Amino acid sequence: MAEVVIVGAGPVGLMLACELRLAGVRALVLERRAEIGDAPKANGLGGQIVRVLDHRGLLERFAAESGYAGPVPGFPFGSVPLRLATLTDTALHVLLLPQPRLERLLDARARELGAEIRRGHEVVALRQDATGVTLEVLAPDGTRHTVPARYAVGCDGGHSTVRELAGVAFPGTTDTEVLRIGHFTGNVTTGFFDTPGAGPLRPGWNRTPRGRVLVTSLQPGVDIVGVREAAGPPRARGALTLEEFRASVRRVLGGESPPLGEPIWLSETVSQARLAERYRAGRVFLAGDAAHLFPAGGAALNVGMTDAVNLGWKLAAVLRGAPESLLDSYHSERHPVGERTLLQTRAQAALEHAEGENGAALRELLAELFAYEAPLRHLAGVLEGSDVRYDMPGSVPDHPLLGRFVPDFALTTPGEGPAGVAALMRPARAVLVDLTGEAGLREAAGPWEDRVTVVAARAPEPPARALLVRPDGHVAFAHSGPVDEAARSGLRAALAHWFGP
Ligand SMILES: Cc1cc2nc3c(=O)[nH]c(=O)nc-3n(C[C@H](O)[C@H](O)[C@H](O)COP(=O)(O)OP(=O)(O)OC[C@H]3O[C@@H](n4cnc5c(N)ncnc54)[C@H](O)[C@@H]3O)c2cc1C
Repeated sequence: MAEVVIVGAGPVGLMLACELRLAGVRALVLERRAEIGDAPKANGLGGQIVRVLDHRGLLERFAAESGYAGPVPGFPFGSVPLRLATLTDTALHVLLLPQPRLERLLDARARELGAEIRRGHEVVALRQDATGVTLEVLAPDGTRHTVPARYAVGCDGGHSTVRELAGVAFPGTTDTEVLRIGHFTGNVTTGFFDTPGAGPLRPGWNRTPRGRVLVTSLQPGVDIVGVREAAGPPRARGALTLEEFRASVRRVLGGESPPLGEPIWLSETVSQARLAERYRAGRVFLAGDAAHLFPAGGAALNVGMTDAVNLGWKLAAVLRGAPESLLDSYHSERHPVGERTLLQTRAQAALEHAEGENGAALRELLAELFAYEAPLRHLAGVLEGSDVRYDMPGSVPDHPLLGRFVPDFALTTPGEGPAGVAALMRPARAVLVDLTGEAGLREAAGPWEDRVTVVAARAPEPPARALLVRPDGHVAFAHSGPVDEAARSGLRAALAHWFGP
């Protein structure tokens, strides 16, 4: 029997499968679609998840298939340019990787770690009691069967069936504009922007009194055209046609559509800003788009895949004997992150939507403010998710790193030689990094050594003398003072709180 059933093999479900397998949990993924999707949704990942992938040793592997991996020089915050390259230590890192390629890489990794992924299997019903969850599944041959598990996680996207079956409300708002995006064979450098009747379009978003038109390209030979306008009456169901796409461009430009190549992919979406009321309903959890939808781009995969990393080790710990209450911290830690991301993406959407001269004035003034280092750094942290600080009950005394994502720094471990903190996080196990050169903290951690890796190390510029890092990279105990009884009991309290007595 699977210990955890994950519903949905999108990036979030597959990331969770990897995390659970690293912790030795029997994980089964049920996916409705028969094949990995080829819809070019996300163009990449940005934010803290890039550092998490580094912790898991996946960044190099994924970067080999990426157009670019590294610090991002700029970011259009609701079309206000942020010049992040002016910061000496740019907080925001990106990994440009089209979503279908990301899903293929994560699928291969999850299978390599031993996860079972059943494609063509749709979850249609769910019930739970005090001991487990039973999912009813529609198999590819049309038959129905049940799958029992100790826990289930809905990673089944914005229209989540699991969320609905678990009775979790999804309050929020739906945009009044529709976004249509088309990928076309072509090349922006060969006269693409000449638009009969409406004049030349510049790369990026072009505003008109009726909406906005985007022209850009992320790879040679493929043009991306986007068009935003007020949502009309709902269309009859079915795929967006090329003629509907062209008509939308014509309406917004008030002239002709630019000459488009052969359509590769056409999509129509209406943005939503929604947050699940609860991330946990008994033995059922929600992660990724099933838990949140953001009205502006760039944040969804960062937050969704980080949900998976937060939940994975907690499920594993509880399945191996840690108190059930540990699972409540998934909601208490991740729901506020969803709220914070809604805040910044709603602000981006508002800036984007602000029309006319008032809107232009607002954007211009904010661009002036974001030229200063402090507001720029603040916003970069919000976009990265590095302003997130979890409550760390049980750990005294306080320390500036407590609850934060661990900074990477160089250290030397006996036997292993030089390394960074990231290298210690590969197995997705908690690590006590002891830089004190004394035995006291290591002895205090002795009873937890079956659950926590203890590393005595040296570092030229350590940010603390000792750090207890949870498997998700967040610091659960940090100490810079002497190794006395207060330090030892603080460490023991943190270990007991997060990893059981
Ligand atoms: C045009 C576009 C551009 C985007 N660009 C970006 C970007 O640049 N950066 C970014 O971070 N995000 C971007 N996003 C958002 C990003 O694509 C989503 O946040 C991401 O796909 C969410 O991943 P997920 O795993 O939570 O859900 P999904 O990717 O939606 O995966 C859910 C899976 O669950 C399966 N499923 C659903 N119901 C069932 C069921 N009952 N039983 C079994 N399986 C089921 C589905 O088939 C699907 O495979 C973009 C989205 C769009 C549409």
